[in-house]
Amino acid sequence: MNNVKSKKFPIKAETCTPEETIAVGHDLAHGLCPGDVVALEGDLGSGKTTFVKGIAAGLGAAGGDAVTSPTFTLMHVYHGKIPVYHFDLYRLDGVRDLEDIGFGEFVQRGDAVLCVEWPEKASAILPGACYWVKINMLDRHRRSICITRL
Ligand code: ADP
Ligand code: MG
Repeated sequence: MNNVKSKKFPIKAETCTPEETIAVGHDLAHGLCPGDVVALEGDLGSGKTTFVKGIAAGLGAAGGDAVTSPTFTLMHVYHGKIPVYHFDLYRLDGVRDLEDIGFGEFVQRGDAVLCVEWPEKASAILPGACYWVKINMLDRHRRSICITRL
């Protein structure tokens, strides 16, 4: 019933706390399958990593703070019922970097849910079909979240 495949898109939400953003991610996770890709667009500090916490928790892949910002590592893996590959491409210098970390292979493997921060930097490699999460900072604590299915 509440499966993501039967949800009506776009999904729009406004949150006032990190916990509320986590809850929106948790809700989206319900029914996500290995191979699904979630792209997260938004400024630094808008809440992309926070949203991924909710996805990971929803997939039983990690709880709460086990998911930290991978800004300096490009990729984290969270093991669970369905694994999550969490990429943060903020520091990415170019397509060469993407090739170095085997990004395309992770996309092809289809054995995990892929969450990608700064997906604009991988647009050449990302599959056309994905969930696109756009987070806007309205003020210090308020965020608008819009999720579309491409
Ligand atoms: P990003 O990954 O987009 O750079 P993070 O998720 O790492 O952003 O950080 C978001 C920051 O904003 C955290 O410090 C979090 O506590 C804070 N914050 C405040 N209000 C919210 C909200 N409504 N949703 C998400 N994060 C929020
Ligand atoms: Mg982040």
